[in-house]
Amino acid sequence: MTLDDVFTTFKRPLNDKDKKLITQAWEMAEEAHRGQKRRSGDDYIQHCLATAKILASIGAEPKTVAAGLLHDVPEDTEVTLAQIEKKFGPEITLLVDGITKLSKIRLRGSKEEYFLENLRKMFLAMAADIRVVLIKLADRLHNMRTLEYNPPDKQKRIARETLEIFVPIANRLGIGEIKDELDDLTFKYLEPENYKKIYEHGAKQYKEKELYIEKAITEIKSTLKKEGISVNDIHGRVKRLHSFFRKLQRKDMDENRIYDLIAIRIIVPSVADCYETLGIIHKTYRPMVGRIKDYISLPKPNGYQSLHTTIFGPQGRIIEVQIRTQKMHDESEFGIAAHWMYAENEQRRWRDYFWPGKKKEVKKLDEKKIAWIRQLQQWQKEIGRDDDEFLEGLKIDFFKNHIFAFTPKGDIVDLPEDATPIDFAYSIHSEVGNGTTGAKADGKMVPLDYKINNGQVIEILTTKDKKTPNRDWLKFTRTSNAKSHIRRTLRKDDQI
Ligand code: MN
Repeated sequence: MTLDDVFTTFKRPLNDKDKKLITQAWEMAEEAHRGQKRRSGDDYIQHCLATAKILASIGAEPKTVAAGLLHDVPEDTEVTLAQIEKKFGPEITLLVDGITKLSKIRLRGSKEEYFLENLRKMFLAMAADIRVVLIKLADRLHNMRTLEYNPPDKQKRIARETLEIFVPIANRLGIGEIKDELDDLTFKYLEPENYKKIYEHGAKQYKEKELYIEKAITEIKSTLKKEGISVNDIHGRVKRLHSFFRKLQRKDMDENRIYDLIAIRIIVPSVADCYETLGIIHKTYRPMVGRIKDYISLPKPNGYQSLHTTIFGPQGRIIEVQIRTQKMHDESEFGIAAHWMYAENEQRRWRDYFWPGKKKEVKKLDEKKIAWIRQLQQWQKEIGRDDDEFLEGLKIDFFKNHIFAFTPKGDIVDLPEDATPIDFAYSIHSEVGNGTTGAKADGKMVPLDYKINNGQVIEILTTKDKKTPNRDWLKFTRTSNAKSHIRRTLRKDDQI
C-alpha cells in the first residue's frame, strides 16, 4: 500500500493544504518506523497506511487521517510527542496523544461487568475528542484483519476485547461498516468451529442468493421506474456471518425463520421518495404483517434512519427491503465520520462539532448534533450515571469531574478531580494505602499531594515495615474511602 491509495480513498477531493499535511505526517511516520516490522513481515508503515486508509474510507476529515498515520509514533519510536507538536501543532498532537493513552486500556482477565463499564467510561473520558475513537477503531480493524500472524492466546484475547469493547463502540457511533467487519472477525477467532460451519454453509448458498438478488433488483427497479421514481442506487446484501449465527441460535437454528437473510437497499433522492417507494413496493409485493419499521420518523438511538419492510418478493421469496436517502445511507455506514462529508462550512462545523465548549453559546444545533447528544445520553443511562452536568456547554467530556488513572498493569482506577496518589493507593487496597511511601506518575517521582492527571500511569511505592498512614494525608486526600481508612487506622494505633 502506498500513500496514493490513501489519497484515492477519500470521499471528497482534497485541497493542496490537506494533501501536504497528510504527506508530511506520512514522511514523519515512515522515517520514525523505518526498519520496524509487523508480525506479518510487512514494514510497520503498512499498518499506519492501512489505518489511514480505513479512516479515509469512512469519510474522516484530513487531520484525523494525518493523526492516524502518526498514531503509533510516540509509543513505538524515538520520535516524541513534543516533536510532533512542533511540526504539526496542538490539534493533531492532541489526537495522537489521545490514541497513546487509549492504547493503555486493556481488557485483561476480568470479564466482570464493572470492569467493562469502567472501560467504556474510560473511552469516553479519554477521548475528549471523538476523532480519537475513530482512529482507535481504524487501528483495531487493521489489527484484527492481520490477527492471524499472532500466537493463538493473543488472538483470543484481542478478539474478546474487540467484541466487548470495540464492537459496541462502533455500533453506538453508528459506524456500521467497521462494526460489521470487526464483529465477523471476532467470530472467526472466538468460535472457530461455528464460524467454519456458517462460512461453509454460507458459501454453498451464496452463489444462488446472489443470482436471486440480481433478478429481484432488476424486477424492483423496473417497477419503480414505471411508477416514476428515480432511484440513486439499488443493491443487495446477504446477512453477515456473526449476526446470522446469533439469529440462528435465537430461532432454534431454523434458517427459514430468518426473514432478513437477504436484504435489498433502495437509495432514493428525498425522504418523500422513501415513503412513496414503500407504498409502491407494498402495492406490488405482499408485505409481511408486523414487519414494517419506520426508522425515519423514529431513528434508532445511534441515529440510524431507514424504512424497513419484509415482503414476499419476486418468486414469492421473503426479502427485507430497506429504503433510505443517500445521506442516511452514508451515515449508517460511516456514522459520525460521515458528517464531514456533509458539512457545508467544514472548518467551522468541525470546530463546533468537536469543540462545542470553545464557544460559550451554541447558536444553532443541527439535527445530527442532537443525535450525537442523544447517543451520549443513552450511553450515560447505560452506565448508570444520572446528572445533567455533561449537557453544560454540550461537551463531550461529561466525565469532567472524573479522572481515570492506570496501574502499571493497565487496570483502571476511577477517581474524583484533584485526586492524589494517596487516593489512588487506597482505592487499590487499604494495605497499599497504609504502606505508601512514595509515588510515580508516568515513571517520574511525584509528591504524595500531587494532583493526578487523566490517563496517567500511577505507581505506588510501598514499604513492608511501615504500615501507618500520616495524619497530614487527610489534608489533601479527596476520596472518602481514603479518608475513612486513614482515620480508622490512626484510631486503632492510638488505642494501642
Ligand atoms: Mn496501531
